[in-house]
Amino acid sequence: MPISVEVDHVAATLTDGRRLQTPFWRVSSGRNGPVLLVLAAQHGNEVQGSEVIRRFAEVCTHGLRAGQALLLPFANLPAIRHRRNSVRIGPEEKGTDLHDAYNMNRHWPGDPDGNDIARVTYALDQALARHATHVIDLHCWNKFWATATLATDDGGESRRMGEVAGTRFTCWREVQPVELPAQIRHAVVARGGAGMAMEFAGQYCVYEREVRTGLRAVTNVAKMLGMLDGEPDIPADTGIEVTDEDAVLVEACCSGLFVQAPNLRLEDRVEAGQGLGHIIRDDDLYTVEITAPVSGWLWRYGSHRPDPDVKLPDQHPYSDVGDPLASIVTG
Ligand SMILES: [Zn+2]
Repeated sequence: MPISVEVDHVAATLTDGRRLQTPFWRVSSGRNGPVLLVLAAQHGNEVQGSEVIRRFAEVCTHGLRAGQALLLPFANLPAIRHRRNSVRIGPEEKGTDLHDAYNMNRHWPGDPDGNDIARVTYALDQALARHATHVIDLHCWNKFWATATLATDDGGESRRMGEVAGTRFTCWREVQPVELPAQIRHAVVARGGAGMAMEFAGQYCVYEREVRTGLRAVTNVAKMLGMLDGEPDIPADTGIEVTDEDAVLVEACCSGLFVQAPNLRLEDRVEAGQGLGHIIRDDDLYTVEITAPVSGWLWRYGSHRPDPDVKLPDQHPYSDVGDPLASIVTG
């Protein structure tokens, strides 16, 4: 059977009567098999997965041999056009009631009589998610935190997806009963499907390294599911399990400007004693070298404060005593 590729649209009627058309690719192998839904940008400032999906559509176009791929690069078009996390969030806002009400990530399986985002979610669920046997939900967190797979240990398909992702870091979560509405993974799992999520390092941007990591992960899952030929490509030193309790935090020992080490970046291997950068003290201009207390992998890197994905001052490299500069996973 020839592979068929089409761009289709999911139509949702908004509260003011307007119709929102959300485009997606449907790649069909013409053979029975899994229905893999990959979506990105439920949060409008988290767009790296959109390029992952474009490249994965190319892979499927040339090689899909079983099942169907439903590929949704712009899940939350209103929030993308707003260029913020949700459609109802303003500058330097996070976790407001209004944001929560319009946060697509909490709305699955949606509501045809709810607010605009609940309606869009409902339309996407009816057209795509309810047909999916497997879902991969692509997000981005702030640029100081490394790309990671968020995997669920259900002892079955969701676990297998997480095991083949091939990212440096994996955060495992136990299966917990979740009341809907919730995340899309929960809606798919509630129907007997499986899923995982990814968080790429960096919002408001598309980085080549993160896109390649994402494309490998999604392709690996499709290979594991028998939708593409070949074995998953799982590099050495990947799948390192992370918990924030186990990671070794490096904090600023004095106040001043933190300057990162040249040629060091997230996911890199560091050895105990290796330089992570230095602080230019703001009282006596002394240079204080910062070194790794343990050997391991850079899980977090760069001076930042609690909301670096929301407020520019929280990205500023001027550090107070105790500000996080790095976090190292020793696994
Ligand atoms: Zn997100």
